[in-house]
Amino acid sequence: MHIHSNFDAGNINVISITPQQVELTIPKDTNSDFLQWFYFKISDIKLGSSQHIQITNAGESAFPDGWENYRVNVSYDNKNWFRIDTRYENGVLAFDIPTDQKELYVAYFEPFSYQQHIALVETASKSSLCTVKTLCKTPEGKPVELLVIGKPDINNKKVWFIARQHPGETMAEWFIQGLVEELLNESNNNSKSLLENHCFYIIPNMNIDGSIAGNLRVNGLGINYNREWENPSIENSPEVYYCLKKMDAIGVDFLMDVHGDEAIPYNFVTSLMGIPNLRSDTIEKEHRFKQLWMSITSEFQDKHRYDNSLPGKANLKVCSKQIGERYGNMSYTLEMPFKDSNANPDLNFGWNGKRSMAFGSSVLKAIKLSSKEGLF
Ligand SMILES: [Zn+2]
Repeated sequence: MHIHSNFDAGNINVISITPQQVELTIPKDTNSDFLQWFYFKISDIKLGSSQHIQITNAGESAFPDGWENYRVNVSYDNKNWFRIDTRYENGVLAFDIPTDQKELYVAYFEPFSYQQHIALVETASKSSLCTVKTLCKTPEGKPVELLVIGKPDINNKKVWFIARQHPGETMAEWFIQGLVEELLNESNNNSKSLLENHCFYIIPNMNIDGSIAGNLRVNGLGINYNREWENPSIENSPEVYYCLKKMDAIGVDFLMDVHGDEAIPYNFVTSLMGIPNLRSDTIEKEHRFKQLWMSITSEFQDKHRYDNSLPGKANLKVCSKQIGERYGNMSYTLEMPFKDSNANPDLNFGWNGKRSMAFGSSVLKAIKLSSKEGLF
Protein backbone atom coordinates (compact mmCIF):
# COMPACT_ATOMS: atom_id res chain seq x y z
CA MET A 1 0.00 0.00 0.00
CA HIS A 2 1.23 3.51 -0.83
CA ILE A 3 0.17 6.87 0.47
CA HIS A 4 1.05 10.17 -1.14
CA SER A 5 -0.06 13.78 -1.09
CA ASN A 6 2.26 15.45 -3.61
CA PHE A 7 -0.60 17.05 -5.53
CA ASP A 8 -2.68 20.25 -5.39
CA ALA A 9 -3.82 20.79 -1.76
CA GLY A 10 -2.43 17.41 -0.67
CA ASN A 11 -1.25 17.26 2.95
CA ILE A 12 -0.16 14.30 5.11
CA ASN A 13 2.90 12.76 6.78
CA VAL A 14 3.29 8.99 6.68
CA ILE A 15 4.77 7.64 9.92
CA SER A 16 4.39 3.91 9.30
CA ILE A 17 2.56 1.43 7.10
CA THR A 18 2.13 -2.19 8.20
CA PRO A 19 -0.17 -4.75 6.49
CA GLN A 20 -3.17 -3.88 8.69
CA GLN A 21 -2.42 -0.51 10.17
CA VAL A 22 -1.33 2.90 8.94
CA GLU A 23 -0.08 5.67 11.18
CA LEU A 24 -0.21 9.24 9.84
CA THR A 25 0.20 12.79 11.12
CA ILE A 26 -1.12 16.11 9.77
CA PRO A 27 1.70 18.50 8.76
CA LYS A 28 1.55 22.09 9.99
CA ASP A 29 0.41 24.85 7.63
CA THR A 30 3.33 26.55 5.84
CA ASN A 31 5.32 28.77 8.24
CA SER A 32 2.65 28.33 10.90
CA ASP A 33 1.65 26.23 13.89
CA PHE A 34 -1.91 25.61 12.68
CA LEU A 35 -2.68 22.10 11.56
CA GLN A 36 -5.99 20.50 10.60
CA TRP A 37 -6.29 20.04 6.81
CA PHE A 38 -5.39 16.64 5.37
CA TYR A 39 -5.83 15.23 1.89
CA PHE A 40 -4.07 12.17 0.48
CA LYS A 41 -4.32 9.27 -1.90
CA ILE A 42 -3.99 5.62 -0.93
CA SER A 43 -3.08 3.23 -3.73
CA ASP A 44 -2.31 -0.50 -4.07
CA ILE A 45 -4.97 -1.34 -1.48
CA LYS A 46 -5.26 -5.10 -0.94
CA LEU A 47 -8.85 -5.88 -1.94
CA GLY A 48 -11.01 -7.26 0.85
CA SER A 49 -8.39 -6.64 3.52
CA SER A 50 -9.08 -4.63 6.64
CA GLN A 51 -7.17 -1.36 6.82
CA HIS A 52 -7.06 0.68 9.96
CA ILE A 53 -5.90 4.29 9.62
CA GLN A 54 -4.82 6.45 12.54
CA ILE A 55 -4.02 10.16 12.47
CA THR A 56 -2.11 10.35 15.70
CA ASN A 57 -1.63 14.12 16.10
CA ALA A 58 -5.28 15.14 15.56
CA GLY A 59 -5.37 16.31 19.19
CA GLU A 60 -2.71 18.92 18.41
CA SER A 61 -4.81 20.49 15.65
CA ALA A 62 -5.99 24.10 15.61
CA PHE A 63 -9.55 23.04 16.53
CA PRO A 64 -9.63 19.68 18.36
CA ASP A 65 -13.41 20.15 18.88
CA GLY A 66 -13.62 19.65 15.14
CA TRP A 67 -13.10 15.90 15.61
CA GLU A 68 -16.07 15.32 17.95
CA ASN A 69 -18.79 13.61 15.87
CA TYR A 70 -16.71 14.17 12.75
CA ARG A 71 -16.86 11.70 9.83
CA VAL A 72 -13.97 11.60 7.38
CA ASN A 73 -14.50 12.17 3.61
CA VAL A 74 -13.39 9.51 1.13
CA SER A 75 -13.64 9.15 -2.65
CA TYR A 76 -12.74 6.45 -5.19
CA ASP A 77 -12.36 8.92 -8.07
CA ASN A 78 -11.38 12.20 -6.36
CA LYS A 79 -14.72 13.60 -7.50
CA ASN A 80 -17.60 11.82 -5.76
CA TRP A 81 -17.09 12.01 -2.01
CA PHE A 82 -18.85 10.28 0.86
CA ARG A 83 -18.31 9.94 4.60
CA ILE A 84 -17.33 6.94 6.67
CA ASP A 85 -17.43 6.06 10.38
CA THR A 86 -14.67 7.84 12.27
CA ARG A 87 -13.61 7.71 15.90
CA TYR A 88 -11.78 10.30 17.94
CA GLU A 89 -10.17 9.07 21.15
CA ASN A 90 -7.21 10.32 23.18
CA GLY A 91 -6.16 12.77 20.48
CA VAL A 92 -6.19 10.14 17.72
CA LEU A 93 -8.53 10.19 14.73
CA ALA A 94 -9.16 6.65 13.51
CA PHE A 95 -11.14 5.03 10.70
CA ASP A 96 -11.24 1.82 8.65
CA ILE A 97 -11.17 2.52 4.92
CA PRO A 98 -13.25 0.58 2.41
CA THR A 99 -11.07 -1.91 0.54
CA ASP A 100 -13.37 -2.82 -2.35
CA GLN A 101 -11.29 -0.74 -4.77
CA LYS A 102 -7.53 -0.38 -5.14
CA GLU A 103 -7.38 3.38 -4.83
CA LEU A 104 -8.96 5.80 -2.43
CA TYR A 105 -8.70 9.50 -1.67
CA VAL A 106 -9.16 10.76 1.88
CA ALA A 107 -9.75 14.41 2.86
CA TYR A 108 -10.80 16.59 5.77
CA PHE A 109 -13.53 18.07 3.56
CA GLU A 110 -14.50 17.72 -0.11
CA PRO A 111 -11.64 19.56 -1.87
CA PHE A 112 -12.05 22.41 -4.35
CA SER A 113 -8.93 22.25 -6.52
CA TYR A 114 -7.01 25.04 -8.23
CA GLN A 115 -8.13 23.53 -11.52
CA GLN A 116 -11.76 23.85 -10.42
CA HIS A 117 -11.01 27.44 -9.45
CA ILE A 118 -9.64 28.17 -12.94
CA ALA A 119 -12.68 26.47 -14.51
CA LEU A 120 -15.06 28.53 -12.35
CA VAL A 121 -13.40 31.79 -13.45
CA GLU A 122 -13.23 30.73 -17.10
CA THR A 123 -16.88 29.69 -17.25
CA ALA A 124 -17.94 32.96 -15.63
CA SER A 125 -15.80 34.97 -18.06
CA LYS A 126 -17.74 33.52 -21.00
CA SER A 127 -20.98 35.09 -19.77
CA SER A 128 -21.85 38.53 -21.13
CA LEU A 129 -23.01 39.40 -17.59
CA CYS A 130 -19.53 38.94 -16.09
CA THR A 131 -16.22 40.76 -16.38
CA VAL A 132 -13.15 39.14 -14.85
CA LYS A 133 -10.53 41.52 -13.46
CA THR A 134 -7.17 40.66 -11.94
CA LEU A 135 -7.17 42.12 -8.44
CA CYS A 136 -3.46 41.46 -7.81
CA LYS A 137 -1.01 38.59 -7.65
CA THR A 138 -0.54 36.28 -4.68
CA PRO A 139 2.84 36.44 -2.87
CA GLU A 140 3.81 33.41 -5.01
CA GLY A 141 2.72 35.08 -8.25
CA LYS A 142 -0.68 33.57 -9.08
CA PRO A 143 -3.39 35.93 -10.39
CA VAL A 144 -6.23 36.70 -7.98
CA GLU A 145 -9.48 37.21 -9.83
CA LEU A 146 -12.36 39.57 -9.08
CA LEU A 147 -15.59 38.71 -10.89
CA VAL A 148 -17.82 41.69 -11.60
CA ILE A 149 -21.35 40.51 -12.36
CA GLY A 150 -23.90 43.11 -13.43
CA LYS A 151 -23.45 46.78 -14.29
CA PRO A 152 -20.99 48.76 -12.17
CA ASP A 153 -23.37 51.74 -12.29
CA ILE A 154 -23.03 54.31 -9.50
CA ASN A 155 -26.72 53.88 -8.65
CA ASN A 156 -26.55 50.11 -8.36
CA LYS A 157 -26.07 48.56 -4.93
CA LYS A 158 -22.63 47.03 -4.46
CA VAL A 159 -22.77 43.48 -3.15
CA TRP A 160 -19.46 41.81 -2.24
CA PHE A 161 -18.66 38.17 -1.65
CA ILE A 162 -15.18 36.96 -0.78
CA ALA A 163 -14.19 33.38 0.03
CA ARG A 164 -11.34 31.18 1.22
CA GLN A 165 -9.37 33.72 3.19
CA HIS A 166 -8.80 30.51 5.13
CA PRO A 167 -7.74 28.27 2.27
CA GLY A 168 -8.70 24.90 3.78
CA GLU A 169 -12.33 26.03 4.09
CA THR A 170 -13.16 24.68 0.64
CA MET A 171 -16.92 24.75 1.26
CA ALA A 172 -16.56 28.52 0.80
CA GLU A 173 -15.59 28.21 -2.85
CA TRP A 174 -18.30 25.58 -3.45
CA PHE A 175 -20.73 28.17 -2.05
CA ILE A 176 -19.37 30.78 -4.48
CA GLN A 177 -19.67 28.37 -7.39
CA GLY A 178 -23.38 27.83 -6.60
CA LEU A 179 -23.94 31.56 -6.24
CA VAL A 180 -22.12 32.47 -9.47
CA GLU A 181 -23.93 29.81 -11.52
CA GLU A 182 -27.26 31.07 -10.23
CA LEU A 183 -26.39 34.71 -10.92
CA LEU A 184 -25.28 33.95 -14.47
CA ASN A 185 -28.31 31.79 -15.21
CA GLU A 186 -30.19 34.07 -17.58
CA SER A 187 -33.41 32.10 -17.28
CA ASN A 188 -33.50 32.69 -13.52
CA ASN A 189 -35.94 35.53 -12.81
CA ASN A 190 -34.62 36.29 -9.34
CA SER A 191 -31.07 36.74 -10.66
CA LYS A 192 -32.28 38.77 -13.63
CA SER A 193 -34.18 41.24 -11.52
CA LEU A 194 -31.34 41.40 -8.94
CA LEU A 195 -28.90 42.46 -11.65
CA GLU A 196 -31.16 45.35 -12.69
CA ASN A 197 -30.09 47.36 -9.65
CA HIS A 198 -27.26 45.43 -7.99
CA CYS A 199 -23.71 44.81 -9.08
CA PHE A 200 -21.85 41.83 -7.58
CA TYR A 201 -18.14 41.87 -6.79
CA ILE A 202 -16.94 38.34 -6.08
CA ILE A 203 -13.49 37.03 -5.15
CA PRO A 204 -13.84 33.22 -5.28
CA ASN A 205 -10.47 32.52 -3.69
CA MET A 206 -8.65 35.08 -1.51
CA ASN A 207 -5.81 32.69 -0.64
CA ILE A 208 -4.72 30.69 -3.66
CA ASP A 209 -1.18 30.05 -2.37
CA GLY A 210 -2.49 28.54 0.86
CA SER A 211 -5.07 26.49 -1.06
CA ILE A 212 -2.48 24.87 -3.30
CA ALA A 213 -0.15 24.27 -0.34
CA GLY A 214 -2.87 22.34 1.52
CA ASN A 215 -3.06 24.86 4.38
CA LEU A 216 -6.06 25.32 6.63
CA ARG A 217 -5.68 28.92 7.75
CA VAL A 218 -2.69 30.77 6.29
CA ASN A 219 -0.90 31.71 3.06
CA GLY A 220 2.59 30.49 2.13
CA LEU A 221 4.14 33.11 4.42
CA GLY A 222 2.14 31.93 7.41
CA ILE A 223 -0.22 34.93 7.39
CA ASN A 224 -3.84 34.53 8.57
CA TYR A 225 -5.69 36.87 6.19
CA ASN A 226 -8.71 37.26 8.42
CA ARG A 227 -6.57 39.09 10.96
CA GLU A 228 -5.10 41.52 8.39
CA TRP A 229 -7.98 43.90 7.70
CA GLU A 230 -6.96 46.69 10.04
CA ASN A 231 -3.56 47.11 8.42
CA PRO A 232 -2.88 44.82 5.44
CA SER A 233 0.55 44.77 3.79
CA ILE A 234 1.43 44.61 0.10
CA GLU A 235 4.17 42.06 0.85
CA ASN A 236 2.44 39.73 3.29
CA SER A 237 -1.26 40.02 2.46
CA PRO A 238 -1.60 41.61 -1.00
CA GLU A 239 -5.03 40.03 -1.57
CA VAL A 240 -6.41 41.84 1.49
CA TYR A 241 -4.55 45.07 0.72
CA TYR A 242 -5.88 45.33 -2.84
CA CYS A 243 -9.35 44.08 -1.96
CA LEU A 244 -9.70 46.83 0.65
CA LYS A 245 -8.39 49.40 -1.86
CA LYS A 246 -10.97 48.23 -4.40
CA MET A 247 -13.74 48.33 -1.81
CA ASP A 248 -12.74 51.89 -0.87
CA ALA A 249 -12.85 52.87 -4.55
CA ILE A 250 -16.13 51.14 -5.42
CA GLY A 251 -18.05 51.12 -2.14
CA VAL A 252 -19.72 48.28 -0.28
CA ASP A 253 -23.44 48.07 0.52
CA PHE A 254 -23.43 44.40 1.49
CA LEU A 255 -20.55 42.04 2.27
CA MET A 256 -20.45 38.36 2.96
CA ASP A 257 -17.07 36.80 3.80
CA VAL A 258 -17.51 33.05 3.38
CA HIS A 259 -15.87 30.53 5.76
CA GLY A 260 -16.13 27.08 7.29
CA ASP A 261 -16.24 26.26 10.99
CA GLU A 262 -14.55 23.15 12.32
CA ALA A 263 -16.62 22.60 15.45
CA ILE A 264 -20.20 23.90 15.06
CA PRO A 265 -22.39 21.60 12.92
CA TYR A 266 -24.66 24.34 11.56
CA ASN A 267 -24.67 27.24 9.09
CA PHE A 268 -24.69 30.67 10.68
CA VAL A 269 -23.57 34.28 10.29
CA THR A 270 -21.82 36.62 12.71
CA SER A 271 -23.17 39.93 13.99
CA LEU A 272 -21.63 43.42 13.91
CA MET A 273 -22.41 43.72 17.62
CA GLY A 274 -19.33 45.18 19.32
CA ILE A 275 -18.00 47.39 16.53
CA PRO A 276 -17.34 50.95 17.85
CA ASN A 277 -19.43 52.57 15.13
CA LEU A 278 -22.51 50.34 15.54
CA ARG A 279 -25.62 52.00 14.05
CA SER A 280 -28.81 52.00 16.10
CA ASP A 281 -30.73 49.91 13.55
CA THR A 282 -28.00 47.40 12.59
CA ILE A 283 -29.01 44.59 14.96
CA GLU A 284 -32.66 44.88 13.92
CA LYS A 285 -31.66 44.72 10.26
CA GLU A 286 -29.42 41.71 10.88
CA HIS A 287 -32.31 40.00 12.62
CA ARG A 288 -34.59 40.61 9.65
CA PHE A 289 -31.99 39.41 7.12
CA LYS A 290 -31.57 36.17 9.07
CA GLN A 291 -35.35 35.68 9.24
CA LEU A 292 -35.61 36.13 5.49
CA TRP A 293 -32.83 33.63 4.78
CA MET A 294 -34.44 31.12 7.15
CA SER A 295 -37.73 31.51 5.30
CA ILE A 296 -35.92 30.45 2.09
CA THR A 297 -33.92 27.46 3.30
CA SER A 298 -33.93 25.21 6.36
CA GLU A 299 -30.13 24.96 6.00
CA PHE A 300 -29.78 28.40 7.57
CA GLN A 301 -30.40 29.00 11.27
CA ASP A 302 -29.46 31.44 14.03
CA LYS A 303 -29.54 29.38 17.20
CA HIS A 304 -26.13 27.74 17.05
CA ARG A 305 -23.46 30.34 16.39
CA TYR A 306 -20.62 32.36 17.93
CA ASP A 307 -21.35 34.59 20.92
CA ASN A 308 -21.63 38.26 19.98
CA SER A 309 -18.77 40.60 20.94
CA LEU A 310 -19.27 42.84 23.97
CA PRO A 311 -19.86 46.57 23.28
CA GLY A 312 -16.77 48.10 21.65
CA LYS A 313 -14.87 44.81 21.78
CA ALA A 314 -15.24 43.57 18.19
CA ASN A 315 -11.94 42.62 16.52
CA LEU A 316 -11.50 45.09 13.65
CA LYS A 317 -8.69 42.96 12.21
CA VAL A 318 -11.47 40.61 11.05
CA CYS A 319 -12.86 41.36 7.58
CA SER A 320 -16.61 41.57 8.27
CA LYS A 321 -16.10 43.75 11.38
CA GLN A 322 -13.66 46.09 9.62
CA ILE A 323 -15.98 46.50 6.63
CA GLY A 324 -19.06 47.03 8.85
CA GLU A 325 -17.15 49.62 10.86
CA ARG A 326 -15.74 51.33 7.77
CA TYR A 327 -18.90 51.59 5.69
CA GLY A 328 -21.73 51.22 8.23
CA ASN A 329 -23.22 48.62 5.90
CA MET A 330 -24.53 45.08 6.23
CA SER A 331 -21.46 42.89 6.72
CA TYR A 332 -21.28 39.22 7.67
CA THR A 333 -18.91 36.36 8.18
CA LEU A 334 -20.72 33.24 7.01
CA GLU A 335 -19.72 29.93 8.57
CA MET A 336 -20.59 26.52 7.14
CA PRO A 337 -19.76 23.23 8.86
CA PHE A 338 -16.88 20.87 8.18
CA LYS A 339 -19.00 18.18 9.83
CA ASP A 340 -22.68 18.15 8.90
CA SER A 341 -25.52 20.62 9.09
CA ASN A 342 -27.49 19.13 11.97
CA ALA A 343 -30.51 21.10 10.77
CA ASN A 344 -30.75 18.42 8.03
CA PRO A 345 -28.33 15.63 8.99
CA ASP A 346 -27.01 13.35 6.27
CA LEU A 347 -24.91 10.47 7.57
CA ASN A 348 -23.58 9.48 4.14
CA PHE A 349 -22.44 12.85 2.87
CA GLY A 350 -22.49 15.33 5.75
CA TRP A 351 -22.15 18.94 4.64
CA ASN A 352 -20.49 18.83 1.23
CA GLY A 353 -19.82 20.65 -2.04
CA LYS A 354 -23.27 20.10 -3.50
CA ARG A 355 -25.07 21.36 -0.41
CA SER A 356 -22.73 24.36 -0.19
CA MET A 357 -23.58 25.22 -3.81
CA ALA A 358 -27.33 25.04 -3.20
CA PHE A 359 -26.86 27.17 -0.09
CA GLY A 360 -24.85 29.69 -2.15
CA SER A 361 -27.66 30.07 -4.63
CA SER A 362 -30.20 30.45 -1.80
CA VAL A 363 -28.52 33.56 -0.41
CA LEU A 364 -29.42 35.48 -3.57
CA LYS A 365 -33.10 35.26 -2.72
CA ALA A 366 -32.40 36.55 0.79
CA ILE A 367 -30.41 39.42 -0.69
CA LYS A 368 -33.19 40.28 -3.09
CA LEU A 369 -35.81 40.36 -0.33
CA SER A 370 -33.64 42.32 2.11
CA SER A 371 -32.68 44.87 -0.52
CA LYS A 372 -36.33 45.31 -1.42
CA GLU A 373 -37.17 45.93 2.24
CA GLY A 374 -34.41 48.53 2.37
CA LEU A 375 -32.18 46.63 4.82
CA PHE A 376 -29.22 47.79 2.74
ZN1 LIG B 1 -12.39 30.78 8.36
